[in-house]
Amino acid sequence: MAFAAIKDTIPVTDTSFEELGLSEPILRALRDAKYDTPTPIQAQAIPMLLDGADLFGIAQTGTGKTAAFTLPLLHNLAEDGVRPSPRAVRALILAPTRELALQISDSIKTYGRHMHFRHAVVMGGVSQRPQVTALRKGLDILVATPGRLLDLIEQKELVLGECEYFILDEADRMFDMGFIRDVRKIARGLPTERQTLLFSATMPAEIQKLAGEILHEPERIEIKARTVAVERVAQQVHHLNGDAKRDKLGELLRNPDLSKVIVFTRTERGADRVVKHLEREKVSAEAIHGNKSQNARQRALDKFKAGKVRVLVATDIASRGIDVDEISHVVNFELPNEAESYVHRIGRTARAGHEGVAISFCDSGERGYLRDIERLIRQQLEVVGAGPAGPETPPPHKKSGGAQNRGRNNGGANKGGYRRTVHEILIPTNGG
Ligand code: AMP
Repeated sequence: MAFAAIKDTIPVTDTSFEELGLSEPILRALRDAKYDTPTPIQAQAIPMLLDGADLFGIAQTGTGKTAAFTLPLLHNLAEDGVRPSPRAVRALILAPTRELALQISDSIKTYGRHMHFRHAVVMGGVSQRPQVTALRKGLDILVATPGRLLDLIEQKELVLGECEYFILDEADRMFDMGFIRDVRKIARGLPTERQTLLFSATMPAEIQKLAGEILHEPERIEIKARTVAVERVAQQVHHLNGDAKRDKLGELLRNPDLSKVIVFTRTERGADRVVKHLEREKVSAEAIHGNKSQNARQRALDKFKAGKVRVLVATDIASRGIDVDEISHVVNFELPNEAESYVHRIGRTARAGHEGVAISFCDSGERGYLRDIERLIRQQLEVVGAGPAGPETPPPHKKSGGAQNRGRNNGGANKGGYRRTVHEILIPTNGG
Protein backbone atom coordinates (compact mmCIF):
# COMPACT_ATOMS: atom_id res chain seq x y z
CA MET A 1 0.00 0.00 0.00
CA ALA A 2 2.72 2.42 1.05
CA PHE A 3 4.59 1.27 -1.98
CA ALA A 4 1.97 2.56 -4.39
CA ALA A 5 2.02 5.86 -2.60
CA ILE A 6 5.75 6.06 -3.04
CA LYS A 7 5.53 5.36 -6.74
CA ASP A 8 2.92 8.04 -7.19
CA THR A 9 5.10 10.65 -5.60
CA ILE A 10 8.37 10.26 -7.42
CA PRO A 11 8.85 13.83 -8.52
CA VAL A 12 8.92 13.56 -12.26
CA THR A 13 6.06 13.95 -14.67
CA ASP A 14 5.28 12.70 -18.15
CA THR A 15 5.29 16.24 -19.53
CA SER A 16 8.38 17.65 -21.25
CA PHE A 17 9.96 21.05 -20.76
CA GLU A 18 9.34 21.72 -24.47
CA GLU A 19 5.59 21.29 -23.98
CA LEU A 20 5.56 23.85 -21.20
CA GLY A 21 6.31 26.61 -23.68
CA LEU A 22 9.77 27.70 -22.55
CA SER A 23 12.07 29.40 -25.03
CA GLU A 24 14.99 27.70 -26.76
CA PRO A 25 17.88 29.23 -24.75
CA ILE A 26 16.20 27.98 -21.58
CA LEU A 27 15.55 24.52 -23.01
CA ARG A 28 19.17 24.36 -24.03
CA ALA A 29 20.30 25.22 -20.50
CA LEU A 30 18.02 22.50 -19.13
CA ARG A 31 19.56 20.00 -21.50
CA ASP A 32 23.00 21.12 -20.34
CA ALA A 33 21.88 20.58 -16.73
CA LYS A 34 20.60 17.12 -17.72
CA TYR A 35 17.06 17.75 -16.58
CA ASP A 36 14.88 15.31 -18.51
CA THR A 37 11.42 16.01 -17.20
CA PRO A 38 9.79 18.68 -15.09
CA THR A 39 8.91 17.93 -11.47
CA PRO A 40 5.21 18.24 -10.56
CA ILE A 41 5.52 21.79 -9.29
CA GLN A 42 7.35 22.79 -12.46
CA ALA A 43 4.80 21.14 -14.73
CA GLN A 44 1.97 22.91 -12.94
CA ALA A 45 3.51 26.28 -12.25
CA ILE A 46 5.41 27.08 -15.43
CA PRO A 47 2.44 27.43 -17.82
CA MET A 48 0.52 29.55 -15.29
CA LEU A 49 3.49 31.81 -14.71
CA LEU A 50 4.19 32.21 -18.42
CA ASP A 51 0.57 33.39 -18.58
CA GLY A 52 1.31 36.07 -16.02
CA ALA A 53 -0.64 34.63 -13.09
CA ASP A 54 0.22 35.26 -9.45
CA LEU A 55 1.05 32.10 -7.56
CA PHE A 56 0.73 30.82 -4.02
CA GLY A 57 3.03 27.80 -3.91
CA ILE A 58 3.09 25.52 -0.91
CA ALA A 59 6.24 23.55 -1.41
CA GLN A 60 9.55 23.04 0.25
CA THR A 61 13.09 22.73 -1.06
CA GLY A 62 13.65 19.51 -2.92
CA THR A 63 10.52 19.79 -5.04
CA GLY A 64 12.24 21.74 -7.80
CA LYS A 65 10.50 24.96 -6.82
CA THR A 66 13.49 27.16 -7.63
CA ALA A 67 13.38 26.17 -11.28
CA ALA A 68 9.58 26.41 -11.16
CA PHE A 69 9.86 30.15 -10.60
CA THR A 70 13.22 30.90 -12.23
CA LEU A 71 12.49 29.37 -15.64
CA PRO A 72 9.30 31.34 -16.38
CA LEU A 73 10.89 34.46 -14.93
CA LEU A 74 13.79 34.23 -17.39
CA HIS A 75 11.35 33.55 -20.21
CA ASN A 76 9.11 36.49 -19.31
CA LEU A 77 11.99 38.91 -18.84
CA ALA A 78 13.30 38.00 -22.29
CA GLU A 79 9.85 38.47 -23.82
CA ASP A 80 9.43 41.90 -22.22
CA GLY A 81 12.74 42.95 -23.75
CA VAL A 82 13.20 46.11 -21.68
CA ARG A 83 16.41 47.28 -20.02
CA PRO A 84 16.55 48.38 -16.38
CA SER A 85 17.39 51.96 -15.51
CA PRO A 86 20.37 52.64 -13.24
CA ARG A 87 19.64 51.54 -9.66
CA ALA A 88 16.42 49.83 -10.77
CA VAL A 89 15.60 46.13 -10.84
CA ARG A 90 13.12 44.36 -13.09
CA ALA A 91 12.65 41.35 -10.85
CA LEU A 92 13.15 40.90 -7.12
CA ILE A 93 13.54 37.56 -5.40
CA LEU A 94 13.54 37.67 -1.61
CA ALA A 95 15.04 34.84 0.41
CA PRO A 96 15.31 34.55 4.22
CA THR A 97 18.91 33.31 4.36
CA ARG A 98 22.12 34.09 2.58
CA GLU A 99 22.63 30.45 1.67
CA LEU A 100 19.27 30.30 -0.03
CA ALA A 101 19.90 33.60 -1.81
CA LEU A 102 23.20 32.26 -3.17
CA GLN A 103 21.56 29.08 -4.28
CA ILE A 104 18.84 30.91 -6.14
CA SER A 105 21.56 32.96 -7.76
CA ASP A 106 23.31 29.76 -8.85
CA SER A 107 20.07 28.54 -10.39
CA ILE A 108 19.72 31.78 -12.32
CA LYS A 109 23.24 31.31 -13.63
CA THR A 110 22.55 27.71 -14.59
CA TYR A 111 19.21 28.25 -16.30
CA GLY A 112 20.09 31.64 -17.75
CA ARG A 113 23.50 30.69 -19.12
CA HIS A 114 22.46 31.17 -22.74
CA MET A 115 20.76 34.49 -22.01
CA HIS A 116 22.24 37.86 -21.20
CA PHE A 117 20.71 39.05 -18.00
CA ARG A 118 22.36 41.13 -15.37
CA HIS A 119 21.75 39.72 -11.97
CA ALA A 120 23.20 40.16 -8.49
CA VAL A 121 22.77 39.07 -4.91
CA VAL A 122 22.35 41.54 -2.11
CA MET A 123 22.72 40.16 1.41
CA GLY A 124 24.08 41.00 4.80
CA GLY A 125 27.33 39.70 6.26
CA VAL A 126 29.45 40.66 3.28
CA SER A 127 30.74 43.98 1.98
CA GLN A 128 28.11 46.27 0.56
CA ARG A 129 30.36 47.97 -1.98
CA PRO A 130 30.27 45.41 -4.81
CA GLN A 131 26.51 45.17 -4.34
CA VAL A 132 26.15 48.92 -4.75
CA THR A 133 28.35 48.87 -7.84
CA ALA A 134 26.22 46.14 -9.40
CA LEU A 135 23.01 48.03 -8.62
CA ARG A 136 24.20 51.30 -10.14
CA LYS A 137 24.00 49.87 -13.63
CA GLY A 138 20.53 48.48 -13.05
CA LEU A 139 19.68 44.79 -12.85
CA ASP A 140 17.34 42.37 -14.55
CA ILE A 141 17.16 40.17 -11.48
CA LEU A 142 18.05 40.93 -7.91
CA VAL A 143 18.16 38.19 -5.27
CA ALA A 144 18.16 39.63 -1.78
CA THR A 145 17.76 39.03 1.91
CA PRO A 146 15.37 41.58 3.43
CA GLY A 147 17.64 43.51 5.83
CA ARG A 148 20.35 44.49 3.37
CA LEU A 149 17.77 45.24 0.72
CA LEU A 150 16.05 47.76 2.97
CA ASP A 151 19.40 49.31 3.88
CA LEU A 152 20.15 49.86 0.21
CA ILE A 153 16.71 51.29 -0.46
CA GLU A 154 17.15 53.70 2.45
CA GLN A 155 20.53 54.73 1.10
CA LYS A 156 18.85 55.37 -2.27
CA GLU A 157 21.14 52.90 -3.98
CA LEU A 158 18.13 50.92 -5.16
CA VAL A 159 14.66 51.82 -6.40
CA LEU A 160 11.80 49.37 -6.83
CA GLY A 161 9.61 51.42 -9.16
CA GLU A 162 10.43 49.30 -12.23
CA CYS A 163 10.11 45.96 -10.52
CA GLU A 164 7.47 43.92 -12.33
CA TYR A 165 8.24 40.54 -10.83
CA PHE A 166 8.30 39.84 -7.12
CA ILE A 167 9.08 36.40 -5.72
CA LEU A 168 9.01 35.67 -2.03
CA ASP A 169 10.69 32.37 -1.22
CA GLU A 170 10.30 30.48 2.06
CA ALA A 171 7.82 32.95 3.43
CA ASP A 172 7.22 30.89 6.55
CA ARG A 173 10.90 31.02 7.36
CA MET A 174 10.85 34.79 6.86
CA PHE A 175 8.23 34.80 9.52
CA ASP A 176 10.21 32.57 11.90
CA MET A 177 13.24 34.77 11.49
CA GLY A 178 11.33 37.94 12.23
CA PHE A 179 11.57 39.39 8.73
CA ILE A 180 7.90 39.70 8.03
CA ARG A 181 7.67 43.42 8.75
CA ASP A 182 10.59 44.03 6.44
CA VAL A 183 8.88 41.96 3.78
CA ARG A 184 5.68 43.98 4.09
CA LYS A 185 7.66 47.21 3.89
CA ILE A 186 9.44 46.03 0.75
CA ALA A 187 6.17 44.88 -0.85
CA ARG A 188 4.62 48.29 -0.21
CA GLY A 189 7.41 49.89 -2.24
CA LEU A 190 6.69 47.80 -5.33
CA PRO A 191 4.52 48.86 -8.25
CA THR A 192 0.98 47.47 -7.98
CA GLU A 193 1.19 46.24 -11.59
CA ARG A 194 3.40 43.23 -11.14
CA GLN A 195 3.50 39.45 -11.03
CA THR A 196 3.90 38.11 -7.50
CA LEU A 197 4.79 34.64 -6.32
CA LEU A 198 4.83 33.46 -2.76
CA PHE A 199 6.37 30.14 -1.73
CA SER A 200 6.08 28.63 1.69
CA ALA A 201 6.70 25.14 3.02
CA THR A 202 3.89 25.48 5.52
CA MET A 203 0.80 27.60 5.60
CA PRO A 204 0.18 29.11 9.02
CA ALA A 205 -2.50 31.80 9.32
CA GLU A 206 0.05 34.63 9.11
CA ILE A 207 1.28 33.42 5.75
CA GLN A 208 -2.26 33.18 4.42
CA LYS A 209 -2.80 36.73 5.59
CA LEU A 210 0.35 37.92 3.87
CA ALA A 211 -0.65 36.07 0.71
CA GLY A 212 -4.00 37.89 0.80
CA GLU A 213 -2.18 41.21 0.97
CA ILE A 214 0.44 40.78 -1.72
CA LEU A 215 -1.04 38.33 -4.25
CA HIS A 216 -3.69 39.19 -6.79
CA GLU A 217 -6.15 36.38 -7.60
CA PRO A 218 -3.38 33.81 -7.28
CA GLU A 219 -3.25 30.31 -8.64
CA ARG A 220 -2.49 27.87 -5.88
CA ILE A 221 -0.27 24.82 -6.03
CA GLU A 222 0.38 22.56 -3.10
CA ILE A 223 3.10 19.95 -3.21
CA LYS A 224 2.82 17.99 -0.02
CA ALA A 225 5.99 17.91 2.05
CA ARG A 226 5.34 14.24 2.75
CA THR A 227 5.70 13.42 -0.89
CA VAL A 228 9.10 14.98 -1.22
CA ALA A 229 10.75 13.99 1.96
CA VAL A 230 9.02 11.67 4.25
CA GLU A 231 8.03 8.89 1.97
CA ARG A 232 11.33 8.50 0.23
CA VAL A 233 13.49 8.63 3.31
CA ALA A 234 14.10 5.65 5.57
CA GLN A 235 13.65 7.07 9.03
CA GLN A 236 15.02 5.62 12.23
CA VAL A 237 15.28 6.73 15.81
CA HIS A 238 17.74 5.72 18.50
CA HIS A 239 16.77 6.42 22.09
CA LEU A 240 20.00 7.62 23.69
CA ASN A 241 20.89 9.80 26.61
CA GLY A 242 23.88 11.92 27.46
CA ASP A 243 27.20 10.88 25.99
CA ALA A 244 25.63 7.88 24.32
CA LYS A 245 24.64 10.19 21.45
CA ARG A 246 28.24 11.08 20.75
CA ASP A 247 29.33 7.50 21.02
CA LYS A 248 26.59 6.39 18.66
CA LEU A 249 27.47 9.06 16.12
CA GLY A 250 31.09 7.92 16.14
CA GLU A 251 29.99 4.34 15.77
CA LEU A 252 27.65 5.06 12.88
CA LEU A 253 30.35 6.99 11.08
CA ARG A 254 32.58 3.96 11.08
CA ASN A 255 30.27 2.70 8.35
CA PRO A 256 31.58 4.07 5.03
CA ASP A 257 28.03 4.03 3.62
CA LEU A 258 27.59 7.26 5.53
CA SER A 259 29.55 9.06 2.86
CA LYS A 260 28.02 12.54 2.84
CA VAL A 261 26.29 13.32 6.08
CA ILE A 262 24.55 16.33 7.56
CA VAL A 263 24.30 16.28 11.34
CA PHE A 264 21.75 18.64 12.85
CA THR A 265 21.87 20.23 16.27
CA ARG A 266 19.49 22.75 17.77
CA THR A 267 22.15 25.18 18.86
CA GLU A 268 25.36 26.72 17.61
CA ARG A 269 27.32 25.50 20.61
CA GLY A 270 25.94 22.04 20.12
CA ALA A 271 27.15 22.11 16.52
CA ASP A 272 30.65 23.19 17.56
CA ARG A 273 30.78 20.47 20.19
CA VAL A 274 29.85 17.79 17.67
CA VAL A 275 32.55 18.99 15.29
CA LYS A 276 35.16 18.88 18.06
CA HIS A 277 34.12 15.38 18.96
CA LEU A 278 34.26 14.21 15.35
CA GLU A 279 37.68 15.75 14.90
CA ARG A 280 38.87 13.73 17.86
CA GLU A 281 37.43 10.67 16.15
CA LYS A 282 39.35 11.61 12.98
CA VAL A 283 36.20 12.25 10.99
CA SER A 284 36.41 15.34 8.78
CA ALA A 285 33.65 17.71 9.82
CA GLU A 286 32.74 21.40 9.57
CA ALA A 287 30.02 23.41 11.25
CA ILE A 288 27.81 26.01 9.65
CA HIS A 289 25.73 28.25 11.82
CA GLY A 290 24.76 31.84 12.35
CA ASN A 291 27.76 32.56 14.55
CA LYS A 292 30.15 32.09 11.65
CA SER A 293 30.86 34.68 9.01
CA GLN A 294 29.25 34.30 5.63
CA ASN A 295 32.61 33.47 4.12
CA ALA A 296 33.35 30.76 6.67
CA ARG A 297 29.91 29.23 6.07
CA GLN A 298 30.36 29.27 2.35
CA ARG A 299 33.83 27.75 2.58
CA ALA A 300 32.52 24.93 4.77
CA LEU A 301 29.65 24.33 2.39
CA ASP A 302 31.93 24.29 -0.64
CA LYS A 303 34.25 21.77 0.98
CA PHE A 304 31.31 19.58 1.86
CA LYS A 305 29.89 19.84 -1.66
CA ALA A 306 33.24 18.95 -3.14
CA GLY A 307 33.49 15.89 -0.89
CA LYS A 308 36.53 17.21 0.97
CA VAL A 309 34.62 17.12 4.22
CA ARG A 310 32.46 14.15 5.04
CA VAL A 311 30.22 15.61 7.71
CA LEU A 312 28.52 18.99 7.81
CA VAL A 313 27.13 19.93 11.21
CA ALA A 314 24.37 22.51 10.97
CA THR A 315 21.72 24.33 12.92
CA ASP A 316 18.27 24.62 11.38
CA ILE A 317 18.49 28.20 10.27
CA ALA A 318 21.93 27.87 8.72
CA SER A 319 20.84 24.79 6.85
CA ARG A 320 17.83 26.28 5.15
CA GLY A 321 17.98 25.88 1.45
CA ILE A 322 21.28 24.01 1.46
CA ASP A 323 21.26 22.33 -1.87
CA VAL A 324 23.82 19.59 -1.93
CA ASP A 325 23.28 16.57 -4.09
CA GLU A 326 23.69 13.02 -2.95
CA ILE A 327 23.58 13.50 0.76
CA SER A 328 23.62 9.91 1.96
CA HIS A 329 22.40 10.43 5.51
CA VAL A 330 20.87 13.05 7.72
CA VAL A 331 21.55 12.60 11.43
CA ASN A 332 19.39 14.49 13.89
CA PHE A 333 21.83 14.63 16.76
CA GLU A 334 19.22 16.69 18.54
CA LEU A 335 15.60 16.65 17.53
CA PRO A 336 14.21 19.99 16.44
CA ASN A 337 11.73 21.66 18.77
CA GLU A 338 9.47 22.36 15.81
CA ALA A 339 8.22 19.34 13.97
CA GLU A 340 8.24 21.19 10.63
CA SER A 341 11.99 21.55 10.90
CA TYR A 342 12.29 17.78 10.97
CA VAL A 343 10.71 17.59 7.53
CA HIS A 344 13.06 20.31 6.28
CA ARG A 345 16.03 18.52 7.73
CA ILE A 346 15.33 15.13 6.28
CA GLY A 347 14.45 16.77 2.97
CA ARG A 348 18.22 17.39 2.59
CA THR A 349 18.59 13.74 1.76
CA ALA A 350 16.45 12.17 -0.96
CA ARG A 351 16.56 15.16 -3.29
CA ALA A 352 15.14 15.16 -6.76
CA GLY A 353 14.31 11.51 -7.04
CA HIS A 354 17.09 10.13 -4.87
CA GLU A 355 16.49 8.19 -1.71
CA GLY A 356 18.01 8.71 1.65
CA VAL A 357 18.30 7.73 5.27
CA ALA A 358 17.50 9.89 8.27
CA ILE A 359 18.71 8.78 11.69
CA SER A 360 17.44 10.61 14.75
CA PHE A 361 18.74 10.56 18.30
CA CYS A 362 16.16 11.15 20.99
CA ASP A 363 16.95 11.63 24.67
CA SER A 364 14.54 11.59 27.55
CA GLY A 365 13.94 15.33 27.22
CA GLU A 366 13.15 15.11 23.53
CA ARG A 367 10.36 12.55 23.54
CA GLY A 368 7.74 15.25 23.26
CA TYR A 369 9.46 16.54 20.13
CA LEU A 370 9.46 13.03 18.72
CA ARG A 371 5.72 12.71 19.34
CA ASP A 372 5.11 16.04 17.57
CA ILE A 373 7.15 14.87 14.60
CA GLU A 374 5.38 11.54 14.33
CA ARG A 375 2.04 13.29 14.52
CA LEU A 376 3.03 15.69 11.74
CA ILE A 377 4.35 13.08 9.35
CA ARG A 378 1.65 10.63 10.34
CA GLN A 379 4.07 7.80 10.72
CA GLN A 380 6.21 6.30 13.43
CA LEU A 381 9.94 6.27 13.12
CA GLU A 382 11.51 2.86 13.24
CA VAL A 383 13.12 2.36 16.64
CA VAL A 384 16.62 0.94 16.36
CA GLY A 385 18.11 -0.63 19.47
CA ALA A 386 16.38 -0.39 22.81
CA GLY A 387 13.25 1.71 23.22
CA PRO A 388 12.99 4.71 25.50
CA ALA A 389 14.03 3.98 29.05
CA GLY A 390 13.71 5.90 32.25
CA PRO A 391 11.28 8.71 32.92
CA GLU A 392 10.66 11.41 30.38
CA THR A 393 12.34 14.64 31.44
CA PRO A 394 11.12 18.14 30.62
CA PRO A 395 12.15 19.44 27.22
CA PRO A 396 14.80 22.11 26.86
CA HIS A 397 13.48 25.62 26.32
CA LYS A 398 10.93 25.76 23.54
CA LYS A 399 12.57 28.50 21.51
CA SER A 400 16.31 28.20 21.70
CA GLY A 401 17.73 31.69 21.83
CA GLY A 402 20.98 30.97 20.03
CA ALA A 403 23.71 29.42 22.11
CA GLN A 404 22.00 27.34 24.69
CA ASN A 405 23.73 24.83 26.83
CA ARG A 406 21.72 21.89 27.92
CA GLY A 407 24.42 20.64 30.19
CA ARG A 408 24.23 17.31 28.49
CA ASN A 409 27.36 16.05 30.16
CA ASN A 410 26.21 16.52 33.69
CA GLY A 411 22.45 16.43 33.44
CA GLY A 412 20.74 13.46 31.85
CA ALA A 413 19.02 11.29 34.38
CA ASN A 414 19.82 8.21 32.36
CA LYS A 415 23.34 9.04 31.46
CA GLY A 416 25.08 5.97 30.22
CA GLY A 417 21.88 3.95 30.08
CA TYR A 418 22.42 3.08 26.44
CA ARG A 419 26.09 2.55 26.23
CA ARG A 420 25.38 -1.02 25.26
CA THR A 421 26.21 -1.26 21.58
CA VAL A 422 23.35 -2.43 19.48
CA HIS A 423 24.24 -4.11 16.29
CA GLU A 424 22.09 -2.80 13.53
CA ILE A 425 21.93 -2.65 9.80
CA LEU A 426 20.87 0.47 8.00
CA ILE A 427 17.90 -0.69 6.08
CA PRO A 428 17.96 0.32 2.44
CA THR A 429 15.07 2.50 1.41
CA ASN A 430 12.34 0.72 -0.45
CA GLY A 431 11.32 3.53 -2.74
CA GLY A 432 10.99 1.77 -6.02
P1 AMP B 1 14.75 22.96 -5.29
O1 AMP B 1 13.49 22.34 -4.77
O2 AMP B 1 14.48 24.08 -6.17
O3 AMP B 1 15.69 23.29 -4.16
O4 AMP B 1 15.49 21.87 -6.20
C1 AMP B 1 15.97 20.68 -5.67
C2 AMP B 1 17.03 20.02 -6.54
O5 AMP B 1 16.44 19.40 -7.67
C3 AMP B 1 18.08 20.95 -7.10
O6 AMP B 1 19.33 20.31 -6.94
C4 AMP B 1 17.77 21.08 -8.58
O7 AMP B 1 18.92 21.27 -9.33
C5 AMP B 1 17.13 19.74 -8.86
N1 AMP B 1 16.09 19.80 -9.90
C6 AMP B 1 15.12 20.72 -10.03
N2 AMP B 1 14.32 20.44 -11.06
C7 AMP B 1 14.78 19.31 -11.62
C8 AMP B 1 14.37 18.50 -12.74
N3 AMP B 1 13.31 18.82 -13.46
N4 AMP B 1 15.09 17.41 -13.03
C9 AMP B 1 16.17 17.09 -12.27
N5 AMP B 1 16.62 17.78 -11.22
C10 AMP B 1 15.93 18.88 -10.88
